[in-house]
Amino acid sequence: MSESAHKTERVAVYPGSFDPVTLGHLDIITRASKQFDRLVVAVLNNKSKNPLFTVEERVELLQLVTADLPNVEVDSFRDLTANYVRIKGAQVIMRGIRSVTDFEYELQLASLNKKLNKDAETIFMMTDPKYSYLSSSVVKEIASFEGDVSELVPAEVEDALRRKVIEKKNGV
Ligand code: ADP
Repeated sequence: MSESAHKTERVAVYPGSFDPVTLGHLDIITRASKQFDRLVVAVLNNKSKNPLFTVEERVELLQLVTADLPNVEVDSFRDLTANYVRIKGAQVIMRGIRSVTDFEYELQLASLNKKLNKDAETIFMMTDPKYSYLSSSVVKEIASFEGDVSELVPAEVEDALRRKVIEKKNGV
């Protein structure tokens, strides 16, 4: 058997709320996809967060904006990240860091995940400085006042936000 046949596939999971996906997330997804055989972008189905978009909508938007990245798969999960990563056969939990504030929270999360799944390593990727201020919350805030988010999110997300704002206004 050739040497490559013995090589295990390098799989990373990038978990998050993605409510909705921003250009900051997409930058991490694009860069991370180059470092692994497969990258699973996983939407956390967390009922307590009161999201703007449903899990299905968030998955669909992620699928649309990652369609040109062949080794990226989009999924959703309702479980501990450490368990989900084990089930997926992944070795890596991918996270993005924008600031010192992110670092403190992410360090806590990474330590917890290490305790729950010793086989998974959390790997951090630093934000592109041009997205360091960008979060889904900021995008939702701007969109709710019908502000311009065209430089913050992919065009498909901009359209979806516009539709959501109209829906909310009409009480749908
Ligand atoms: P969560 O609710 O788990 O923080 P998010 O969807 O907001 O989920 O973020 C998922 C991951 O992406 C986190 O690691 C977060 O730090 C990272 N992230 C969010 N926005 C950016 C950005 N602008 N640049 C780099 N990483 C980011």
